[in-house]
Amino acid sequence: MSTDRPLDWSPLEVELAQWHRTGLTLPLWWRDDDAIEPTAQMNQLSALSQNLALPVHLAVIPAHVKPELADYLTDNPTLLPLVHGWAHKNHAGRDQKKCEFPTQRPAQASIGDIEQGLRDLRALFGAKLLPIFVPPWNRIAPELLPSLPSLGFTALSTFTPRQSPLAAPGLAQINTHLDPIDWKRSRSLVAPERLIAQVCDQLRARREGKADNHEPYGILTHHLVHDAAIWQFTEALIKRLMQGPGRVCQLDNKENST
Ligand SMILES: [Zn+2]
Repeated sequence: MSTDRPLDWSPLEVELAQWHRTGLTLPLWWRDDDAIEPTAQMNQLSALSQNLALPVHLAVIPAHVKPELADYLTDNPTLLPLVHGWAHKNHAGRDQKKCEFPTQRPAQASIGDIEQGLRDLRALFGAKLLPIFVPPWNRIAPELLPSLPSLGFTALSTFTPRQSPLAAPGLAQINTHLDPIDWKRSRSLVAPERLIAQVCDQLRARREGKADNHEPYGILTHHLVHDAAIWQFTEALIKRLMQGPGRVCQLDNKENST
């Protein structure tokens, strides 16, 4: 987003006006991935979260987390830890999309890692940890999902609108829907007009009953790689949603009851 070219938010404003007319509300949540330790970027994330009055659900990598993150989260209470895989290690085959828990990996090894991650983060964060599993690269072999509730997880979070409120019996599905980063090319902001069009399409589908508006609408960020354009767009978008139909959605330990 260049600063000398004002961004046209009017398509979103038109859609939000429709929401206002119909009295609909949008449950809104924010997930940020790949947290390991306190950094300058995490300070920026925490400040923005407080500023916007929207908590950030922080997907923490268990194998790499630094113990000082625990005290940091006590001092920064709008950051709420979730479990982000185990070591963010790719176990997929050479020609496959990256995945830490792919189908071809022995289930026992995957489950062992997932269980260890939950145990370690519980030991570090105590009751503050939300037992919500965020698989790295938003992928996990579907046959592993029925085991997650017995390990202690209440919800699974990946990317794109959910097909069903439950990922497995006893396991809620609460996905993210908008990722502002152009991972394949610039690693900066996706063309902002395209992002605005995507939000409009997703909101329209919810308003028209073609998508599940009970699923919290998730903004997905990665604080460690944000440039100024990504920070600015994220802030501007969340601000608009919060001034309109957005309602703060803070996930808790009982997501399987929703
Ligand atoms: Zn990740």
